[in-house]
Amino acid sequence: MPDARSDTCDVLVVGGGGAALCAAIAAWDADPSLDVLLVTKGELGASGVTATACSDRMAFHATLPTTEPGGPDAWHYHADDIYRIGGLVSDWDLAEVLARNASSAFSYLESLGVPWARNPDGTPAQFVTDGSAYARACYTGPHTANEIHAALLRRLRELPVRVVDHTMAAEFLFDAGGTIAGALVLSEKEPSATTISASAVVMATGGAGQVYATNVFPRDCTGDGYAMAYRAGAELVNLEFIQFGLCSVSTGLACSGSMMRALPRLVNDLDQAFLLKYLDTDDQSRACDLLFRKGASWPVSLEEPTHIIDIAVAAEIAQGRRVFLDYARNPQDYAPRRLGPAVQDWYAKRGYRLGDDDDTPLARLCAINPQSVAWLAEHGIDLDIEAKVEVAPAAQHFQGGIRIRTDASTTVAGLYAAGETAGGQHGANRPGGNSLLDGQVFGRIAGESAARRASRLTDARQRAPSTTQTIAKLATPQGEDPDAVIERVQHLMTAHCAVRRTKGGLASTVRELEEMLRTGVALDPPAQARTVEALNILQVAYLVATASLGRDETRGPHLRFADDHTTEPLPRRDDRWQRYQVIQRGSQGPMVSSRQPVARPSKSDV
Ligand SMILES: Cc1cc2nc3c(=O)[nH]c(=O)nc-3n(C[C@H](O)[C@H](O)[C@H](O)COP(=O)(O)OP(=O)(O)OC[C@H]3O[C@@H](n4cnc5c(N)ncnc54)[C@H](O)[C@@H]3O)c2cc1C
Repeated sequence: MPDARSDTCDVLVVGGGGAALCAAIAAWDADPSLDVLLVTKGELGASGVTATACSDRMAFHATLPTTEPGGPDAWHYHADDIYRIGGLVSDWDLAEVLARNASSAFSYLESLGVPWARNPDGTPAQFVTDGSAYARACYTGPHTANEIHAALLRRLRELPVRVVDHTMAAEFLFDAGGTIAGALVLSEKEPSATTISASAVVMATGGAGQVYATNVFPRDCTGDGYAMAYRAGAELVNLEFIQFGLCSVSTGLACSGSMMRALPRLVNDLDQAFLLKYLDTDDQSRACDLLFRKGASWPVSLEEPTHIIDIAVAAEIAQGRRVFLDYARNPQDYAPRRLGPAVQDWYAKRGYRLGDDDDTPLARLCAINPQSVAWLAEHGIDLDIEAKVEVAPAAQHFQGGIRIRTDASTTVAGLYAAGETAGGQHGANRPGGNSLLDGQVFGRIAGESAARRASRLTDARQRAPSTTQTIAKLATPQGEDPDAVIERVQHLMTAHCAVRRTKGGLASTVRELEEMLRTGVALDPPAQARTVEALNILQVAYLVATASLGRDETRGPHLRFADDHTTEPLPRRDDRWQRYQVIQRGSQGPMVSSRQPVARPSKSDV
């Protein structure tokens, strides 16, 4: 690393998404005398998932006074959904914090100007997602996350919080007692690194989508928070659980909701409707019913029978095929009368007549969601001309992360985490809408906890912190080119650690990643930040693959297969695996232990 300049603050917030903005605001709210500094890698407002992602209808889960079933204990049902749908491998007390604080997070965002959708009677509009017991998904439309981000940014800009963007945190600084005491950061604009000493650090650097070749994350989501925390000795949890779902390859659009409910033909590049082969049936209406159901169960999950669609698509791609949703023609033997009642009722309610002469997948899509057709046309796919959308399973969310407690503290003193970087609050599946919530609830708690620590340790930033320079040891002139490292890792992870996971594939991936870590990444001063990103991607991939190898059962999106040829995943084994895996740096590499999460007390049963 080149010579470092220096800066100091009381609370250092790393990241620029919803969780980071919320943490910085909360730290200042908690103690306005503190010097709060937010450092983020990309352009603030144009990087990270919260500021940039959009989908059919982005959801923010909240149990409001008007949410069913109502009453002072309604939060129990919400916490229970997070915990139960999560596969009983998350900490119940964190789910409880999320559910109890959801309503105030919703109101706070509304006070900042988030235009929540409302029913004609003025109550907040809410809908049901991903198996939740009650309608809790609040929204503004396809850009809910962006509107949350914009509202928080407006508020932050009113405060005397210092903001530095285009600057990447690379390593933590420690004091003589081994406590986190700041971070070493690399600016796009400065040739030298800067050491920032701080009494408390909040990590809110989002997920690690760039570990996979097919993902819907922005380029800056390279898992830096996970890798830095691992190098600092923090515990990480549930890393094997990553949300995958079918996305348009060229646009990144999640093909959920109406894209599936329109019942397109699912075909490969030989125009074979391959799903029937994997269902082991000739009954086309069964395939149609499953496709329709996929519209409401987008992420891959063992607990949802539509996972066979993702397995089939992944298997075709593994055999070198490309896969498409074809909206031009109806599936072979398409017979509306033979479709299940759920499909028929759904269309009848919308006044659409299945079976008319002009009834095609494209006609259905135009009728039920013309916006998606227009959106695809704007992004280069004109369904009127080429009625096919190429799809593949893409990574969308990391359920695990740096293990936090209810005050957002981690197992390393002075370090707090929030948002997608944090772990333990979600299990194997993350019911839709709870991530945006999570960033707000734990973002606020992390900011307040960090402020409390900084207020207590007023002299901490006078101490001279030092860095352990682990990066300098891993980045060497002899190492591999950073871009080549990233490409190799992404290829390996998409091939062996995405939808289809086998013991053999994971073991060889772990070995190859180990070898790459030994070789290291070339330190190329002009592209120094890229070197650190490549190291982080490599290190996170290694941890994810190691955790995936360890869990020899299927749960949520972690589908384990006995071999490359079977299409039936291994069973879920609650007797052995109703536990989470915790990974921590040891002297010889990662130490993996399986542990009992904080369980739901029986009196909380709902
Ligand atoms: C297409 C899509 C649709 C989604 N839909 C929903 C939904 O409907 N409901 C829901 O609840 N969730 C949804 N999610 C998930 C949810 O949006 C994210 O989990 C959430 O926005 C993450 O917020 P965050 O603040 O943790 O991270 P981000 O918003 O990703 O922000 C991370 C920030 O950290 C910065 N950063 C990274 N590394 C460093 C570093 N080393 N130094 C400094 N800064 C760094 C980045 O530049 C970025 O600003 C969706 C995700 C996607 C991709």
